[in-house]
Parts: sequence; C-alpha cells; structure tokens
Amino acid sequence: MGKATELKCSLCGKIYDPDSNVMTCDDCGIDGTMHVLYDYEEVKKQLPMESLAADPDRSLWRYLPLLPVSDMAAIPSLQVGWTPLYDSPSLADRYEVGRVTIKDDGRNPTASYKDRASAVAVAMAKELGRDVVACASTGNAASSLAGFAAVGGLSSVIFVPESAPEAKVTQLLVYGAQVYLVKGDYEQTVNLAIEAIEANGWYNRNCAINPYLVEGKKTCAIEIAEQLGWQVPDRVITSVGDGCIISSLYKGFWDLLQIGLIDRMPKITGVQAEGACPIHRAIESGAKRVTFQPADTVADSISVGAPRNWAKALNAVRSSDGTTVTVSDREILEAMTELARTTGVFAEPAGVTAFAGFKRMAQDGLLDRQETVAIVVTGNGLKDIVSAKKAVGLPTVVEPNIDSFRAVRA
Ligand SMILES: *Cc1c(COP(=O)(O)O)cnc(C)c1O
Ligand SMILES: [Zn+2]
Repeated sequence: MGKATELKCSLCGKIYDPDSNVMTCDDCGIDGTMHVLYDYEEVKKQLPMESLAADPDRSLWRYLPLLPVSDMAAIPSLQVGWTPLYDSPSLADRYEVGRVTIKDDGRNPTASYKDRASAVAVAMAKELGRDVVACASTGNAASSLAGFAAVGGLSSVIFVPESAPEAKVTQLLVYGAQVYLVKGDYEQTVNLAIEAIEANGWYNRNCAINPYLVEGKKTCAIEIAEQLGWQVPDRVITSVGDGCIISSLYKGFWDLLQIGLIDRMPKITGVQAEGACPIHRAIESGAKRVTFQPADTVADSISVGAPRNWAKALNAVRSSDGTTVTVSDREILEAMTELARTTGVFAEPAGVTAFAGFKRMAQDGLLDRQETVAIVVTGNGLKDIVSAKKAVGLPTVVEPNIDSFRAVRA
C-alpha cells in the first residue's frame, strides 16, 4: 500500500517521520511546507505500466501506491479524477504549436480540481479517526471538502471570504457544511481559519499546510502522462493562486520520473492574474521568497495575495525550466468564450486562466512550434455565472408568436 515514508521540508530540507503528524516545518514555520516521499523501489513494483492499462478503475485511486492513503475502507465513494484530456487540433492550428490538449478538471464531482485533494483529505481524516474536517477557501476547496465530507460521513466547518461566488457558497450549504462567511479578504479568512482549527482540533484541509493534499492533486499530472500514452508533454500550464496545483503538477511528474514511467519533466508553467501575481513577481525578479501584496481579479479562485505554498511553487517552476506569465481580467473573460466555443469546455475565470496564459505566450512568441502543451482547466463555468455574464451579450427576448419572432430576426 502506498504509505509515505518521509516528509521533507520544502525550504530547509529537514526530514520528518510521517507518523509524527507534523504539518509544516518546526524550524521554518508556516512557510516550510512538506514534500511527501515514498519508497519508490516499492512503488515501482506495485505500479507497472501493464497492470495500470488493465485496471478498470477510472478514478485517481488507480494510483493508490503513490498516495498516502492506506486504509481502503476510508476512501470516499464519490468518483474523482480520470477527467478527460481533449485534443484540440483547431487550437494547435490557430496558435501554431505542435499539439494542444485540454485537461477538463471541471468534470470532477463538485466541479473543480480541488476534489482531488478533498478525496485524500477525507480518507486521511477517516484513517486517523477524526470526525470534523475544516478549511479556509476562496470557494472551491470548501465546496469540494463539504461534498467529500458528506459522502464520508464527516462534519465540515468552512471559512470563506464574503465575496465568494454565490454558487460556491450555495453548494456548501446544500452539502450541509457549517459555513462562516468572513467579512474580510482571503488572507484574513485563512488566518482566522488557522486559529479556529488549531483551537478546536479539527482535521485541517488547508492545502498548503496539510502535506497530503498536494498528493491528491498530483494525480492530474499522472493522468495526463497516462492519457498521452506515457509521453510527457513539453509544457503543462495551470493557473496559480496559493500555488498548490502548480506544485502538485510538478510532484506528479517528479514521482513518475522516480519510478521510471517517464524520462523527463515537462516545463511547469504558471499563469496569474495581473491583479494577483506575487508568484510571478518572484519568478521574474529571481527572488528567494514571495512578497505578499493585495489581490484584485475577476478570477476569485486565484485572487490570492499571500500564497501559502509559495516555496513549492517557486521550486516547481524553477526546477522544471518552466515559467510564469500574467493575464488581464479582460484576457481571462475573452479566453472563457473562446475556449467554450472551440472545445465545448466552459470554465470559471480561474479555470480558463491557464488557457488565457497559453494564448498570451503564443502571441508573444514564447512557445515552440513543435511543442505539445497540456492546458489544465481547473474549475467549471457554472461555478461563477456572474463573471461569465461579463464575457457575453444578452439573449433576445421575444413574444410567443411567429410574427414577433420574425420582427426580432429582421
Ligand atoms: C484553487 C483554484 C486554483 C488555484 O489553485 P492553487 O493551488 O491555489 O494555486 C485555480 N483554479 C481554480 C478553479 C481553483 O479552484
Ligand atoms: Zn524547514
């Protein structure tokens, strides 16, 4: 069974025993997020390519030997992962790159990439015999945790900024979570949640703090590799808020490299909104640490000024020879309609930000003509229709008779 053997601080490299239940590094504090490591020789034996090909499990649990969960009974039944990877020859033509693929993670059960992490969080909490899970979230991590807690028979306590889109907050309430709408921004919400979780001893689903959540998220990278027949794309592009998804994409490919299922890393490429780009600024300036700043963008899921997983995110970009770019809110909204009208995939603003970044890079001549690119769509468009409406016109209103219809057609 895939049990983690070591936790390693992403800043100072200090090694911890997973049984110590440590979350972040004692020496580095909250910035010292942990890498989760396995006995890769053992994983190699349990995860040969041939047995994967024959495995009928169409969920992220097909990669169980590379996940920290060991109690099968703790695994929630809600299907998660194994989302489609679409080829788009028309986007490849339009932007003059070798191959464009779209990984539609809005197809997960609560409609975002976050489900990969929540599935593992709930399994881990159950394994540890915990009955309350909690997190702070811009919205999707929360609705996802609430959904998986519901099916897993756990209670969930959720902190979201009061600006969270209505659909996400409603999703939480439908799932039966205890929801606290915080009169503040995401950073203030996170800080309150950390204190409340600590004080109450709840299981912490905050992705940058709980080391196992990036492990759930990394399965997206493994799926991309498997869906491409174990060919590594040249570049994988994702939007970046706290930096967990981008770290997880790096970790997924890195793990595959350790067990010999792939032979090189893709360039891990992060896209941030112009109004919330602290990770991009650190990459551009070569800074060792990320400087926090206020955040303002239409893409609420990446409206993060104080990214918690910055150490891993910087490492993911730098170690893979990747890069970061920024896009404006207008580019994000334009990308939303273009992606939907070309591929049929309707994404929320943060969900389409990677595609907006891809367009920007293509237009700036930053992509190779032969490149194979995987663009990760991180959330479904129905999550935030108020923003989506800004990208489109109005429908035509008509009286219920054919003469009125002819009149408005004319
Ligand atoms: C959470 C989220 C992101 C950003 O992920 P981080 O791990 O915070 O960088 C991007 N898109 C969507 C839809 C999300 O919900
Ligand atoms: Zn450390």
